[in-house]
Amino acid sequence: MSNNESSLKPTNFIHQIIEDDLKNNVHGGSVVTRFPPEPNGYLHIGHAKSICLNFGTAEKYQGACHLRFDDTNPEKESQEYIDSIISDIQWLGYEWTGEIRYTSAYFDQLYLWAVHLIKEGKAYVCDLSPEEAREYRGSFSEPGKNSPYRDRTIEENLSLFEKMKNGEFAEGECALRAKIDMAAPNMNLRDPMIYRILHTNHHQTGDKWCIYPIYDFAHGQSDAIEGITHSICTLEFEDHRPLYDWFINNLPVPAKPRQYEFSRLELNYTITSKRKLKQLVDEQIVAGWNDPRMPTISGLRRRGYTPESIRRFCDMIGVTRSNGIVDMGMLEAAIRDDLDSSAPRAMCVTQPLKVTLTNMAEGVEEWFELPAHPKDESMGMRKVGLTRNVLIEQEDFIEEKPVPKNKKDKWKRLAPGDSVRLRGAYVITCNEVIKNEAGEVIELLCTYDPATNGANPEGYKPNGVIHWVSEELSVPCEVRMYDRLFTEANPDGDKNRSFMDCLNPESLVVLKEARAETGLRDAPAESRYQFERMGYFSVDPDSSSEHLIINRTVTLRDSWSKSN
Ligand code: ATP
Ligand code: MG
Repeated sequence: MSNNESSLKPTNFIHQIIEDDLKNNVHGGSVVTRFPPEPNGYLHIGHAKSICLNFGTAEKYQGACHLRFDDTNPEKESQEYIDSIISDIQWLGYEWTGEIRYTSAYFDQLYLWAVHLIKEGKAYVCDLSPEEAREYRGSFSEPGKNSPYRDRTIEENLSLFEKMKNGEFAEGECALRAKIDMAAPNMNLRDPMIYRILHTNHHQTGDKWCIYPIYDFAHGQSDAIEGITHSICTLEFEDHRPLYDWFINNLPVPAKPRQYEFSRLELNYTITSKRKLKQLVDEQIVAGWNDPRMPTISGLRRRGYTPESIRRFCDMIGVTRSNGIVDMGMLEAAIRDDLDSSAPRAMCVTQPLKVTLTNMAEGVEEWFELPAHPKDESMGMRKVGLTRNVLIEQEDFIEEKPVPKNKKDKWKRLAPGDSVRLRGAYVITCNEVIKNEAGEVIELLCTYDPATNGANPEGYKPNGVIHWVSEELSVPCEVRMYDRLFTEANPDGDKNRSFMDCLNPESLVVLKEARAETGLRDAPAESRYQFERMGYFSVDPDSSSEHLIINRTVTLRDSWSKSN
C-alpha cells in the first residue's frame, strides 16, 4: 500500500494521536507498533483489521512494526498456529521489522521484574485457592477483601516465589499477585495475579519454566522492552489500561509505551472468536481452519479473496472507538470490485444439460476468439472451441416459459422452438426435447445458424445470450458453491440458542459434473476467474490436472441484501 493510498483512510483516530505525538516529540519522534497474536488459533478477519492498523500505521509514518507472539499460555498454543500466522501476515503483504519476537524470550527479564516488585513490597505470594481468590475479589458494587497472605514479609515472598519457580508447588497452590488496592473501583487493580504455576512444556522454552506471567504483566513490559511507542489493542482492554500503566510506572522499564484501544471488527453472518472457530474445526463442521467458509485469513484466501481486497476492506471500515457490526456485504463488495477488474473471464457450466447441434458434423471443431476481459485488452484473447456436442446450464432451458408479468419481462434463455446465442459463437434454435423415462429433460436437439458468427440472425431474434462449453473440448471439474456459513445475521446474538443452531445447511453445495472451457486445463491453484453469468471463482489448492477443483468466491451480485 502506498502512502498516498493510506492517507485516504476515512477515519482513523490513532493516526490523529500519532500526528499530535510527532508534533510534540512525545516518543522522540518515533513510531513503533506491534502486532501481538497469541498462537492459539488461526488469524481471522478481525485480526486483519489489527494487522492493517499496526503495519499500515508504521508504513504511513516510516516507523517500525514488530511481530510478537504473545505466548504466555503454552497449553493452548502450538507451532502450527505460529507458522500459519506468519504465512497469513506475509500473504497480506506486510513485513515486520527485525526478527520475529516472542514474549517467552523475555521470561528471564519478566521474572526479574516480578522479583523487583516483591523487593519493593509491591507483590506477594498468595495461597488463596482460585475460588477463594474470586470471593475475596468482591464485585462491581462491593470492594474486595485483603488476602490473609497480603502482609507476608519481603523475604518470605522472595523465598516462596523462588520455590514456585523451582517447581516446588502444584498448579493452583499459590500465585504471585501485585499489591495494589483491593478496594479499587477498577477490579483489574484489586491485587491482580501476575504469575501462575503451570507444569506445562512450552513450545519455545521447553521445560525451563513452570511459572508463567499473566497477559497483563507480560504485555506492557514486552512493549517496553521492544521500545513500542503506541500499543494498540481492542476496546475490551480499556479497563486494563490503568494496570498497564501501573506496571510501567512501578518497574525500571527502558521505555514508556502507551496503550490505545479501538473497536473490534465484528462482521455479520459469521463469528470472529478463535475459540468458536476452533469449535467448528474440532467438531468437523468445516474442513479445517482454512475451509473457504471460515472468516480466517487462510479460509478467505482459499475462498479466492485477494490480499488487496482484504486491505481495501480494512481501509473502508476505518478505525474508531465505537462498536458496530459491519455488513458482510462490504467484504464481499471489496472482493467483487477487485476481481471485476483483475479476473479473466471464462465459461463454466456447473450443472450441464446436453445440447446436440444436429447440423454440425461429428469430429468438427470450430474455434472462436473471445476477449479474456471485456474492458481490458491487455489481458489478450482466449480460444473457445465448439463441437457438435455442447453443454449448457440446466437452468438456461425451460420447457414452458413463465407468463410475462409485463412487456419488459421476458424469458431470456432457451425454450422449445426458441433461439439463443451461445456466448461468442452462433445462435442456436431448439427443435426437439428428449426426456428420460422419469420425464426429465436429458438432451436438446438444436441447430446452429452458420450466418450468425459475429452477425445478427436474419428474420428472427434470439431470446438472449447464454454460456456454454463443448463436451469434448471442456475440462471436467468439481465446483464448490460456497455461501455464508450462518443464516442469521448475528449467530451469537440470541442467548436461547447457540451459534451452532444457525449454521447454513447450504453453505457448501458440491457440483461434480461441472465443465469449464479448455483454457482452464492445468489452471494453477489460486488462479481466479469470473465465470460468465455465474460469479467469481478460484482454483482450490487441492486441485490437480486430474481433478480440477474450483471454489466459488462470491456471486456476481449481492443476493443476500434483497432476500434478507
Ligand atoms: P479472539 O477473541 O478471536 O480469541 P484475541 O484477541 O484473543 O482474539 P489475539 O491473538 O490476542 O486474539 O489478537 C491479536 C491482536 O488482534 C490483538 O491486538 C487483538 O486486539 C487484535 N484483534 C483480535 N480480534 C480482533 C477483532 N475482531 N478486531 C480487531 N482486532 C482484533
Ligand atoms: Mg487475546
